[in-house]
Amino acid sequence: MKAAPFEYARAASLSEVCALLATHGDGAKLLAGGQSLVPMMAMRLVRPAWLVDINEIAELKFIAVEKDMARTGACTRQGAVERDHALAARVPLLRQALAWVGHVQTRNRGTIGGSLAHADPCAELPLVAQVLGARMLLRSGTGARTLEAEKFFAGPMATNVRPGECLEEIHWPAWSWRHTGSAFTEISVRHGDFAMVAAAAQVAIDGDGRCVRAAFGLGGVGGTPLAFPKIAGRLVGTRLDDAAVNDAAHAAATETQPGSDLHASAEYRRHLAGVLAARALREARERARSL
Ligand SMILES: Cc1cc2nc3c(=O)[nH]c(=O)nc-3n(C[C@H](O)[C@H](O)[C@H](O)COP(=O)(O)OP(=O)(O)OC[C@H]3O[C@@H](n4cnc5c(N)ncnc54)[C@H](O)[C@@H]3O)c2cc1C
Repeated sequence: MKAAPFEYARAASLSEVCALLATHGDGAKLLAGGQSLVPMMAMRLVRPAWLVDINEIAELKFIAVEKDMARTGACTRQGAVERDHALAARVPLLRQALAWVGHVQTRNRGTIGGSLAHADPCAELPLVAQVLGARMLLRSGTGARTLEAEKFFAGPMATNVRPGECLEEIHWPAWSWRHTGSAFTEISVRHGDFAMVAAAAQVAIDGDGRCVRAAFGLGGVGGTPLAFPKIAGRLVGTRLDDAAVNDAAHAAATETQPGSDLHASAEYRRHLAGVLAARALREARERARSL
């Protein structure tokens, strides 16, 4: 199948994007890497009247590593983020998650912002954003606002980005504890497919081996990626022994409401959620201990 007819505009600046979005309203869609949008248009699942191409906008493509966070421009390619060593040193979960996103070829085109705005509940980057508490900077003709990941994702393939807004940059918190470890794991039908269930975790321990901060979450088991801050908080002060980790993973899995499809039943997905959450937490703990 081929896409329905549409008009095309290549924007040269963010202000031009905002002006085009203001003019064309709901009928316009931003084109980033096209790795999700173009197939959806070809299948006629979306029929934008206007495509606003943001690929040539230099101000949307950058990686900046700062003291407490890293910032990435929305149109930064996933591959560029994966290959950035300074970023991987400060926010290692991004590189760990990107290894599971599609293929080298799709990561060379696909953008960070496109993946977040697409908001697939099984996608890896939205899960990382949710677990780390990333903040999204949104720009429109009337100004800018910031949304925390928790408020950004609204449901399957749905966000709280308003018509006329463009995701400009993403702020990824960086933990400063020396012994910080993170891990990402998932089960998919084939490597490179979207996850059936995914888990991400990050923990920090003090010199004595006690947990000072923990965060973890699950993808593919609800309408949005899920983080479990209250359950993770119960790990603080423990030595992250297997019993504590398994308890936390089990508690999180119990809170999920996965669906069933031809690949897996809800019950199997919930089982995977517990297994993968425990695996991610253990791997994160081992990395923290090894530093
Ligand atoms: C073979 C294949 C395998 C894949 N496997 C995976 C996988 O395992 N995991 C995974 O997560 N993804 C996977 N993907 C999808 C891929 O990660 C996409 O790159 C990503 O979902 C969308 O990014 P994009 O830059 O291509 O966005 P586009 O496809 O260009 O856009 C996606 C949506 O986001 C909107 N958008 C884009 N940029 C902005 C912005 N700055 N502000 C507001 N809205 C914006 C668009 O209007 C559109 O609605 C796969 C894709 C392919 C083709």
